[in-house]
Amino acid sequence: MWESQKIEVLEAAQQMCQEGFVVGTSGNVSLRFKDPEGQEAVAITPSGCHYDTMKTNDIVIVDLEGQRLEGELTPSIETTLHTGIYKVRKKVNAVIHTHPVYGSIIAVAGLEIPGILDDQVTQIGGEIRVAPYAISGSPELAANVVASLGPRNAVLMANHGAIAVGRNMREAFTMCKLAEKTARIFISALALGKVNLLPAEAAEVEKAYFNAVYGESQRG
Ligand SMILES: [Zn+2]
Repeated sequence: MWESQKIEVLEAAQQMCQEGFVVGTSGNVSLRFKDPEGQEAVAITPSGCHYDTMKTNDIVIVDLEGQRLEGELTPSIETTLHTGIYKVRKKVNAVIHTHPVYGSIIAVAGLEIPGILDDQVTQIGGEIRVAPYAISGSPELAANVVASLGPRNAVLMANHGAIAVGRNMREAFTMCKLAEKTARIFISALALGKVNLLPAEAAEVEKAYFNAVYGESQRG
């Protein structure tokens, strides 16, 4: 069952690997959907599998409590991170966790990326915060990430990596790339010794646009 959702997760996971956002078996991808009874379920990558040899049926289906509904393999160690986000972000239906180079540099330095680019603010929703460190797979990590992500579409994880979310998989992937591009530009600007923030009025207008499109209080 749920073939199309599994294919979508598999293809995104393979693309994540091909684009260099992870190496080996790290990172994980999930998609939220409704089963025929209207119950919410999540298709998620399995733990410890290489993406190039991963098959459609290796993708695991779990409920929002992380209980396996279908699949032979163990769901990702970070399943609680994904379900934790889905529980509080009702419009989010896709989550991608990566270990990108530039985002991880910022995550190691523990620097929040302020609003520096128009596309960052209109699509990610403003600053990119760094969630405090906690061990992989722990409820603390999930809580830290959910809190630091807030209403935005990307967050970094201290000494670990990044999370991007979207209303669908394509959007989550765009956020993933946009966050990494923003991190790269921020690091380069820091190296030049000067970072100009967006003008406050522009950031305000852009955040209003973001809230209208992605905001949880909006319908649709
Ligand atoms: Zn990770």
